[in-house]
Parts: sequence; C-alpha cells; structure tokens
Amino acid sequence: MHIEFHGAAREVTGSCHLFQVGRYRFLVDCGLIQGSPEHEKLNREPLPFNAREIDAVVLTHAHLDHSGRLPLIIKAGFRGYIYAHRATASLCRVMLEDAAHLNEKEAERYNRYQAGRGKPRLEPLFDQNDVYTTERHFKPIDYHEPVEILPGVTVTLHDAGHILGSAIVELRLQEGNLSRHVVVSGDLGHVGAPILADPTVLEEADLVLMESTYGDRCHRPWDATWAELGEIIGSARAGKGNILVPAFAVGRTQELLYVFARYYRDWHLDEWHLFLDSPMAIEATALYRQYQGVYDKAAREIVANHGDPFAVPNLRLTRTAEESMRINDIRAGAIIIAGSGMCTGGRILHHLKRNLPFAQAHVLIVGFQARGTLGRALVDGAKHVHLFGEDVPVRARIHTVGGLSAHADQAGLTNWYAHFRNRPPVVLVHGEPSAMDALAQHLRTTLGARVHTPGLGQRLELARL
Ligand SMILES: [Zn+2]
Repeated sequence: MHIEFHGAAREVTGSCHLFQVGRYRFLVDCGLIQGSPEHEKLNREPLPFNAREIDAVVLTHAHLDHSGRLPLIIKAGFRGYIYAHRATASLCRVMLEDAAHLNEKEAERYNRYQAGRGKPRLEPLFDQNDVYTTERHFKPIDYHEPVEILPGVTVTLHDAGHILGSAIVELRLQEGNLSRHVVVSGDLGHVGAPILADPTVLEEADLVLMESTYGDRCHRPWDATWAELGEIIGSARAGKGNILVPAFAVGRTQELLYVFARYYRDWHLDEWHLFLDSPMAIEATALYRQYQGVYDKAAREIVANHGDPFAVPNLRLTRTAEESMRINDIRAGAIIIAGSGMCTGGRILHHLKRNLPFAQAHVLIVGFQARGTLGRALVDGAKHVHLFGEDVPVRARIHTVGGLSAHADQAGLTNWYAHFRNRPPVVLVHGEPSAMDALAQHLRTTLGARVHTPGLGQRLELARL
C-alpha cells in the first residue's frame, strides 16, 4: 500500500496523487500543470503512470489544477469512474468545456500562423469531444456518504469550504491485515469566507495530506479586507479610472458578487458600470445559485430574507466577444470582473492591454498568482508586460488584496491539522517550496508534527508510517 506524488509536489499546480491498495490503483485529483508556457508544455508529456492501470479517480474540487488532466487520462486509456461531489461534477462540465474551447482556439491560432513555416501542426491538448467522453465517467456523490469505490477503498467526502462542491477526501484503505485511514485536505477554505461553510474538521487519521499554498502567510481579518476593498473602490472613483479584477470564474467571482451586493450602498456601486465579462463565470454563478444547501448560515439567511445573494442591480453579464470588446470604449467608471484569475488567458488580457498604460486605472488582484504567470509579474511590480505580441507599459495601480483568498492561511492550516488528536504524520503538498517549508517548520515546532514534503515522483509506503 503506497502513495506516489505525481503533481503539486513542492509546487502548486498539477495535483495528482496515486494510491495503490492491493492490486487496485486510484488517483486523488488529476490536475492541469499551470504557470509559464514552458511549464504548461509538461501537460503534453506522457503521463508518469499507465492510465489503463488506474481503476478510479476521486476529485477534491473542480478547479483545473485539480481536474484539468482528466480528459488526458481518458485519452490515454482510463476506463473507470470519477467520483466527485455533485456540484463538482456540474462545475467540471462547465470548466472543462471552456478549457477545451480555449485549447481548440489556441491550436487553431498556432496552426494558422505557423502554417507554411515548416513547424508541425499543434493538436489541442484536449477538445470538446474528449470532454464529452470525460463527463460520462463522473459518479456524483454527496458529502458524508461513505462509498466503496474499489475493494478495500472506501471514500467519504467532507465540505472543504474552498469552492462550491470542494471536498476533503477521507479514505479507509484495507489490504490484507493492513488498514490505513488517510485524510486528503484538498484545497482548504478560509475560515469566515463568504457564502460557503468553513472547512470540516476531522479528528482522526493515520496520515494527513495537506495543502500549503499560504503556509508562510497570514491573511488580514475579513473586516479589514472589506475596508481595504471599499477604500480602493473609493479612490478609483475619485481618480476616475477603471478597475480590472482578474478573477477565477469559480469561487472568487461569486464571492465578489456576494460582497458587492452586501456593500452596494456603502461603496457607491450604483455609480459604476459593473461587468461580469466571462461566460464561464456566468454559468458558474448559476450553479452557485442552484446548490444553496452548502451555504453557510449568513448566506442562507440572505436567501431567506432577500432571495438571490448575487443580485447586484447594475451588473451587466457580457456573454459574447463583441459585448466584451465594447467595454474597451469605457475609459472611466467601470469595474470589470473577467478571467483568467492569473491573467494567463481569457478576456482579462484585452482589458489589461487597454488599461495598464493609464495611471488612473486599477488592477485588483484577489487570488493566488503562480510563478511565471502575468498576474504574478504584475504583483511583483513589472513595469512592462508583453500582451498580444506588444510591449505594454504598466502605469496602472496594482493592488493585492490577500485577505480574499479562498485558501486557509498558516494559522488556518495549523488549526485544521491541530484537530487531529493523535497528531498523525502529515504530508505537505500544493505549495511553493518556501511556503511549504515554512509551514513544515511551524507544524514541527508548535505541534511536534512529523512532516514530509515529498518531491515529484516520490513514493510513500503506508505500511511504514
Ligand atoms: Zn482550488
């Protein structure tokens, strides 16, 4: 019985953990590698395991860095079921179809420009048909409902409070006389975050796999974060600029709409043109409306008293590319929420190209920015960036609102782990080395935890815990 780490090992993206129990093998997550173009090319390399020998997949949540290689394993011969929370299955349909569409467009563009230059044609990483095939493998399940996915492997999902449908995966593994109780945190939510419940706490395990994205940081308190957002919007209003918000279509966008509805008067949002410029975010918001059963108490009260928690009166939903391009004519007074969250593609790029050269424009960074991404370059203070083959000067003000994170911070991660009464060994995944090592040190010194931070391809024998 063992685990092999095939992604998000001493890095943030590409989550993929392979479990072997007796003669069965299953994955927890099968995510896309994201970041710089060189890094993303790794998705085209052969998989580090034989997909035909994988019997099942369990998905923690729908974000592409956890789900985006599912079509690839199916193309490589995987024939089993993909177990995921019902909302995750719905969100994956939206996200993977969108990703396939972008892949097709990217390949088309490449082939058009490279045609005749002797370069080999580029096939899309996966296309719509691959995604339709992938969708047929999903087995939606609910929280707190144990499911025997393979002989000797029982899975229970618990709410992780990270995005809609996100799950902590509790595994009961049995191989002959050896039994192991393993808990995989997935991405853990930020306690007190709007809309969703706080991450479920569990108290027993033989081994914990935990994310460590913000293992070296502490978020600001929520009240301070709302005050900060209000101030930025206020100063942009006085300076007559636009505000661009690169946001993950799933999770961050709904949180923003939810707080915009809540602070609509306080932040004078009626004086702005508000745009949700992302067809995927529009669809994801509809799914957030559909799965109200997983909301926290405050969100349920809003639904009971006011109805739709995402109702912002002057919000315009722009679905077509033409509508999106028309926003470019607005020089001041627009708040534009668009993907992608790390500015690696999507409609935010043409808004950035248009607005970055203006000192009165503002860019609101509200999520984690992986190394090598345009979003990270902006956060790190780049004075020039490359967009659509052009050099674009950055004169806009870049604000990083860290408190809005959908991930637990160092205190949140430590507190979640501290609920395990027997202090099981913990494997840290899903973090850049600096964050991971800081958290490892913190867990060792404050709680006496035994901490592993395995590298890519490393194996952990579960008999020897
Ligand atoms: Zn995530």
